[in-house]
Amino acid sequence: MTTRALPPVINTTEAQRRGWACVWCRAALGIGLGDDLGEQRVKPADGAAYSWFPRQCSDTVACQARETS
Ligand SMILES: [Zn+2]
Repeated sequence: MTTRALPPVINTTEAQRRGWACVWCRAALGIGLGDDLGEQRVKPADGAAYSWFPRQCSDTVACQARETS
């Protein structure tokens, strides 16, 4: 499990916030695939607090290759 700091939620897509796509490389993740990074709570300055549910690829080497390409 990574200890990287998550990207700012503002920089993520809806799919990434819902755990449908990798939070790092944006690859689509199938149901039950990828690693759950846990519920994240956000309190925007101008809105109501909400949660998002980042997931990442299980294959971190391939993930990083995609992220940096
Ligand atoms: Zn990835």
